Amino acid sequence: MAKTSKTGRDGDGALIGAIAKAVGEKGLVTDPGEMAPHLEELRGRYRGAALALVKPASTAEVAEVIRLAAAAKMPIVPQGGNTGLVGGQVPPEHGRALLVNLSRMNRVRSLDPVDNTITVEAGCLLASVQAAAAEAERLFPLSLAAEGSCQIGGNLSTNAGGIHVLRYGNMRELVLGLEVVLPDGRVWDGLRRLRKDNTGYDLKQLFIGAEGTLGIITTAVLRLFPAPVQKATAFIGLTQVEHAMAILERARAVAGDQLDCVELMPRLGLEFTLRHIPDTTDPLGDPHPWYLLLELASGKAGDHLAETLEALLAEAYDDGLIGDAALAASAAHRAAFWRLREGISEAQKPEGGSIKHDISVPVSRIPEFFARAIPLVEEMIPGVRPVPFGHLGDGNLHFNLTQPAGGDREAFLDQWEDVNRAVHELVVEMGGSISAEHGIGRMKVEELKHFKSAVEIELMARVKGALDPDNLMNPGKVI
Ligand SMILES: Cc1cc2nc3c(=O)[nH]c(=O)nc-3n(C[C@H](O)[C@H](O)[C@H](O)COP(=O)(O)OP(=O)(O)OC[C@H]3O[C@@H](n4cnc5c(N)ncnc54)[C@H](O)[C@@H]3O)c2cc1C
Repeated sequence: MAKTSKTGRDGDGALIGAIAKAVGEKGLVTDPGEMAPHLEELRGRYRGAALALVKPASTAEVAEVIRLAAAAKMPIVPQGGNTGLVGGQVPPEHGRALLVNLSRMNRVRSLDPVDNTITVEAGCLLASVQAAAAEAERLFPLSLAAEGSCQIGGNLSTNAGGIHVLRYGNMRELVLGLEVVLPDGRVWDGLRRLRKDNTGYDLKQLFIGAEGTLGIITTAVLRLFPAPVQKATAFIGLTQVEHAMAILERARAVAGDQLDCVELMPRLGLEFTLRHIPDTTDPLGDPHPWYLLLELASGKAGDHLAETLEALLAEAYDDGLIGDAALAASAAHRAAFWRLREGISEAQKPEGGSIKHDISVPVSRIPEFFARAIPLVEEMIPGVRPVPFGHLGDGNLHFNLTQPAGGDREAFLDQWEDVNRAVHELVVEMGGSISAEHGIGRMKVEELKHFKSAVEIELMARVKGALDPDNLMNPGKVI
C-alpha cells in the first residue's frame, strides 16, 4: 500500500502547481473529459482516478515530476499507449495518484546502420519504430496487433511478445540499453549500444517486464536486423493438433532461422472471424479442426523460400500430417491470411463474454494441455466454447473461452476467477506460466502470490523495496 501523505489536499494542490511549472501547459491535464480515456483500459475491466494526467516532454521533465512526487509521497502510475490487458497502466480507484503518460516523448533520436541500433524515446509508437527501421532497410521485429497504439516504453515494461518471438525473441532480447528515471527522481543513464558488456548485474533487465513498478523508462537502444526481402506464407488445415508439432519440427529442420511465425487457431476461431470480420474468406475448401499460419522470411535474395515451403507441405501432405494448405500468391493474399489470425480476438466479442488466459507451456506439451484443459473447462461450464489460439512456436496460447451460445453473459463472467484458477493450476503442474505475454498488472496479483514460491516472492519484494522503498511507483501492481 502507498503511504498516505501528511500534506493533504492543500499539499496536493501545491504539488500540482509545481508540476505545472515543470512541464508547462501542454504537459498537465486536469480536465476530467480529457483525462477520461486514460483512466480506463481498453476492455473496460479496470477504471481508476488520478489527480492529474502529466505528459512530460523530456527526460529532465520526467525526472523533475518524479522528484516532486516523491517528496510529496505521491503515487505515480506510468502509462504508454494504454493497450495493456492486465490493468497495469490504470490508476487505482481512490484518486490519489498521478498518471504519467509518455506520449509526448516520441522522437527517434538516432539510427546507426553499422551498430544496427535505433535509439528511441519511450513514447514512440511501436509502428513508428518499425517504419523508421524499414526506411533504413532494417527490421525492428517486435510485431503485435496493437502496434499502431502501443509505445516502446509499454512494450519494454511488459516485455512484449507477439508473432516473431520464435525467431527474434521477445522485447527483453531486443534491447541493448535503457535510460530510466528512478522512483526518487534520479536518472540512470544505461544507454549503451554494446553487444558485450559483462560489468556486473545487467540492470536494464530489472526494468524490462517490471510494469512500471521500479521506475519510468524514458529512452531505449533497440536492436535492428536485416529487412526481409522475401517471404513465403501458408495457411494449413490440420486434422489433429498433434500434427502441428510435427510440422513445426520439420519446418525448423528445413528452414532454420528463416522460420518466422507459426500461429495456431481452431476451427471455431476461424468461423467467428469469417462471421464477424469484414473481407475475410476461408482459404481452404473444406473445414479442418485446426489451422496453422506458417511464415518463412529471409533478408537475402535467392533463398527460394516458396520452394522450401512447398516441398515441406507436399511431404507433410503425403505423410498424412495436413489435410489441405494454401500458399499466399501475393502480399495482399498474405495479408488476408493474417487478417484471419489477427481478427480472432475482435471476432469473439459479438459472440458474448470471454474468459481469457494468456499462458505458456513447454511446446512439446501443447497437445497434452489441450487434451486436459478443454474437458476441464467443459466440465466447469457446460456448453462453453473454447477458442484457443496463439503463438505455437513459443508454447504461448491465448486459451480464450467464449460463453455458451445464448447463455447469460454476466453469470458466465462471474466464473472468471474460478476458471482461471483451475486452468492455471493445470498450467503450473505442466511446467508452464500463468502469464506468457501480458504481465501481472492488477489482474493477476493474487495469482502470482498463489503460484510463485515464497523465495521468489521474497526476492521480488526485496528488489522492489530496494529501488522504491516508499512504494510510490505503480503501487498495487505486480507485487
Ligand atoms: C489487440 C491487442 C493485441 C495485443 N497483442 C499482444 C501480443 O501479441 N503480445 C503482447 O505481448 N502483448 C499484446 N498486447 C498487449 C499490449 O499491447 C502490450 O502489453 C503492450 O506492450 C503495452 O504497451 P502500451 O504502450 O500500450 O503500455 P500501457 O498499456 O500503457 O502500459 C503497460 C504497462 O507498462 C507500464 N508502462 C508503460 N509505459 C512505461 C514506461 N515508459 N516506463 C515504465 N513503465 C511503463 C504501465 O504502467 C503498465 O504497467 C495486445 C493488446 C491488444 C489491445
